[in-house]
Amino acid sequence: MKVYKFGGASVKNAEGVRNVEKIVRLAGAQDLMVVVSAMGKTTNALERVVELLDAGKEEAALTQWVDIIDFHVAVMKELGLQPGSDIRLQGEIPFDPALPYDENYDQIVSLGELMSTQIVAVYLLKQGLSVEWWNMPKLLRTDDTWREATVDNDTSRAVIRAGWERAQRPSIVVTQGFIGGTADGKRTTLGREGSDYTAALLGNYLDAESVTIWKDVPGILNADPRIEPDTILIPSLRYQDAVELSYSGAQVIHPKTIRPLENKRIPLYVKPFGDPAAQGSCIAENGVGPIDVPVYIWRKNQILITMRAKDFAFVLEESLSEIFEIIHRHRLKVSLIQSSAVTISVSVDNTRFVADAIKELQQHFNVTYNDHLSLLTIRGTTPEILERAKAGRTIMLSQTTRRTARLVVKE
Ligand code: ASP
Ligand code: MG
Repeated sequence: MKVYKFGGASVKNAEGVRNVEKIVRLAGAQDLMVVVSAMGKTTNALERVVELLDAGKEEAALTQWVDIIDFHVAVMKELGLQPGSDIRLQGEIPFDPALPYDENYDQIVSLGELMSTQIVAVYLLKQGLSVEWWNMPKLLRTDDTWREATVDNDTSRAVIRAGWERAQRPSIVVTQGFIGGTADGKRTTLGREGSDYTAALLGNYLDAESVTIWKDVPGILNADPRIEPDTILIPSLRYQDAVELSYSGAQVIHPKTIRPLENKRIPLYVKPFGDPAAQGSCIAENGVGPIDVPVYIWRKNQILITMRAKDFAFVLEESLSEIFEIIHRHRLKVSLIQSSAVTISVSVDNTRFVADAIKELQQHFNVTYNDHLSLLTIRGTTPEILERAKAGRTIMLSQTTRRTARLVVKE
């Protein structure tokens, strides 16, 4: 069997859904698990609904909600589907002011994938394909770490394998990326852009021959085409290089995607949605490595936090575990670490958890920080490339080895 994952940009409109049909038919329309993200920017729009409701702005939330529903209804109509009869639409917004923000978030934001997958499944069915729609909140079991749930692989694997091995299973299963559910039936989400991760988990559970992520880029490129004009396609890479790229901030694949695939030596293809016959990129055990072109990766929205020992009597190294315990507990995502005798600097994603973490760090250290920063990683750098990258930029911190340069720069 194979797993195909279609991201939000691929299924952003009716034409995208028709293209899914085309790609599925090219694959023989059988033995396929099709994982789909929310359509276009739906996840962002749903996040806004949660924010508005939380702020008590019910009317604005409702307007936003109606826009989201209208958008999906328009796509359905364009595809010849009947909203309400072919596809169930959520009537009320599942918001309970008594619940924590993050729990409400998961109940609401997960609706994007529930809508997109119903549209894709019913559309494929109406085109004569043998399709079943699966509801991941009932199949992919997670804990209740809202917004970043941890998957219970043993339970999920057993349930999903049993479903797949059932005699009467149709040729194609369509299901949601990004979402799961707790033992007591609450929906959860796995972290933004988590659909790739779901595809990898399903590939692992079902011993897939391969997993393919269909994207709006030609494959894995050496730089973001929206930033650098001349990009080069990397046709073949090793798992370890792919992990490093995604950890550095390359947007092509979610960082958690590689491990479940590497564990079972399942190749991961990244292919252009608009040109299914194109070569794309393949990440595999026997991939070509190390990558032999310079690779530029931007990780945006960074904050650089510097801690200085309050009391020079002790060595800062001794406080490392304390610092990282605080960072871990506040769910900060560290992208770079640098230390000197008396200071430690960490660059982290500037999320809503940062302020509390800084407060706690201030109890133990003298803390300074700078925000509105980006981390640029250049792999396969040369002195000339590094000079060019530094030109005209304010560099807050740089870390270079022979082949890799990492620069924290002002945005
Ligand atoms: N729809 C979710 C998001 O936009 C998950 C995904 O696209 O992978 O974050
Ligand atoms: Mg998305």
